[in-house]
Amino acid sequence: MMRLKHTVLWVAALAFIVAACSTVPITGRKQLSLIPQAEMLSMSFQQYGDFLKTNKVTTDAQQVQLVRGVGVRIQKAVESYFAQKGLSDGLKDYKWEFNVVDSKEVNAWCMPGGKVVVYTGILPVTKTEAGLAVVMGHEIAHAVAEHGSERMSQELIANMGGMLLSKALEEKPEATKNLWLGVYGVGAQFGALLPFSRTHESEADHLGLVFMAMAGYDPHEAVDFWTRMSQSSGGQAPPEFMSTHPADATRIADIQKEMPEAMQYYKAR
Ligand SMILES: [Zn+2]
Repeated sequence: MMRLKHTVLWVAALAFIVAACSTVPITGRKQLSLIPQAEMLSMSFQQYGDFLKTNKVTTDAQQVQLVRGVGVRIQKAVESYFAQKGLSDGLKDYKWEFNVVDSKEVNAWCMPGGKVVVYTGILPVTKTEAGLAVVMGHEIAHAVAEHGSERMSQELIANMGGMLLSKALEEKPEATKNLWLGVYGVGAQFGALLPFSRTHESEADHLGLVFMAMAGYDPHEAVDFWTRMSQSSGGQAPPEFMSTHPADATRIADIQKEMPEAMQYYKAR
């Protein structure tokens, strides 16, 4: 009897989890999706605002223009891809924003809802507009593929158990906030995303490659960028971006495998 009850519970939990899955565009991978997008976006918008208030946003017109220019082109590519696939609903509450922060950190990130920061420290490595498109395409891909939400969902399952999820979210907003901090970093690290899994990294490379190609940047530049990135770490402590984004042979080989697909989307400007 106990055993049967257990089985019933498990079946119910599994049914719940299956119902709470969504599909990643382009790769078609199924992912766990338990956090309502509205919650993700409201946390993101608030934290992005706080981040900008407590960090030095650059006023260098040339850098701002460069980052916004590339960002908007990637944004348009994402929007057109989502529109073609009938997925525009997923982007309708986005409030895209592209800011440059004056810092030696070699880093960039995009929070849910299209909230992007590029650190001036990464610009010498991205070098060209297309190089920057590699980084921004990749970071924006993490956001539109809802990798943060998926990680929070996995944490929620691990920590609170399947059956209480909707209740937990409803009754414990602070628990949801803690999940967010567990994924998006805390304290001094705040704003610096904690490392994504290998699956999320290669998926963001794949989507980013397609988005940059659609935006009119030659996707082959991705191979050049990752090669530069791996060389720039030689001898010194690895920069932030390298520690969360290892530019190893597997990464570059995977990108090369996806090149023919990305080239189908590429129209040189
Ligand atoms: Zn990444």
